[in-house]
Amino acid sequence: MSFTTLGLSEPILKAIAKTGYTKPTPIQEKAIPLILQRKDVLAAAQTGTGKTAGFTLPMLENLEMSRAKSSGQKKPHIRALILTPTRELAAQVGENVATYSEFLPYKSAIVFGGVSINRQIGTIRRGVDILIATPGRLLDLISQKIVDLTKVEILVLDEADRMLDMGFINDIKKIIKIVPKNRQTLLFSATFSKEIKALASGFQINPSLVEVAAQNTTSERVKQVVHPVDKVKKRALLCKLIKDSKWNQVLVFTRTKHGANKLSKYLEEQGISSTAIHGNKSQNARTKALANFKAKEVQVLVATDIAARGLDIDMLPHVVNFELPNVPEDYVHRIGRTGRAGRAGEAVSLVCIDEKDFLRNIERLTSQKIKKVVIEGFEVDPNIKAEPINMGGRGNRNQPKKSNSKRRDNNSNRTSKPRNRSRSRAY
Ligand code: AMP
Repeated sequence: MSFTTLGLSEPILKAIAKTGYTKPTPIQEKAIPLILQRKDVLAAAQTGTGKTAGFTLPMLENLEMSRAKSSGQKKPHIRALILTPTRELAAQVGENVATYSEFLPYKSAIVFGGVSINRQIGTIRRGVDILIATPGRLLDLISQKIVDLTKVEILVLDEADRMLDMGFINDIKKIIKIVPKNRQTLLFSATFSKEIKALASGFQINPSLVEVAAQNTTSERVKQVVHPVDKVKKRALLCKLIKDSKWNQVLVFTRTKHGANKLSKYLEEQGISSTAIHGNKSQNARTKALANFKAKEVQVLVATDIAARGLDIDMLPHVVNFELPNVPEDYVHRIGRTGRAGRAGEAVSLVCIDEKDFLRNIERLTSQKIKKVVIEGFEVDPNIKAEPINMGGRGNRNQPKKSNSKRRDNNSNRTSKPRNRSRSRAY
């Protein structure tokens, strides 16, 4: 199948051609025709499957088809709203929208917290057709009567599962109350959980279901390996792997912000250029770090789960779990940063005795045994006993303010036992 046969019009096809995509990904093949039929769509697709184009391309087409109705208006008004859980994802989706709408007359804007609101106000006042927003900042702008959502034709909830995890359910409900009832609603989520289905049934009308990969499967293109190692030797092993294998672009995950900073500093000391991104860094610092990493000016990006959510880095060859996540679904999200859009990737996990249960939960969730390879000189000391894992300190700016959020976080002050795979939800 080609993009032409999907029924997209010339300006959109021209933009696709410019990106170099030759054929639609499976999620695009399935979702685009349904969205073009103006159906509500509930799609399970992980990052890396091409899901953003999967909703953006038909969204643009639909806006084009109904443009005549609104063409009398002098100033653009918000006709499509895309909600994302994080600033990074908002920025990325915004970039995608700009790319795919290059040959269309639409103005888009991205709004998220952590940066000055005034510039965002100015942009919206000048008029936008497509708004990409995180829920908190959007509600701010609504309460200041800057944003008018009463003419929204298409609402997209991207990474809806993450939005629920982060405690945005009430914010989403408030926003949904404001947008017109006769809109088209597209809900994208990494998995079809019970909670997502419940959310969809409240906000969508008879949605068509689209699924591309079985739940919680890890991409087959990603080669996964576990290196058993003692906790104190992880840093040295990471350096060895980076240096010996000559990895020139590697995303490393830590559980805590403090851990990310410490590791990044250590790598720098060892002559490996590195930056950390996490919720304590300003938005500008995070954007700059990501840009440097993408430009290959920095070899290693050390990130916490929240900061890394939604990062889209073309052809990222290596992901390292310096520490395994305590929530097994996060492993799937993490390694989804590599092996994207048909390319091969490698995910390496450095696992110490304390993380044995985390590993077991991950293997159970993904229904696979991950290959274990002991690296010479880093054999585990059988006398070391497992200790409970400290999940870090308090105070995460990325953490939603909502007190009812049950999202486990890389900064919760919990000395945690591995949780089982079912996450508790806040609603
Ligand atoms: P996403 O799942 O939206 O985060 O997209 C993952 C990556 O796939 C991004 O780098 C996109 O630019 C890329 N991509 C999206 N659609 C296609 C396509 N049809 N062919 C090749 N790459 C694509």
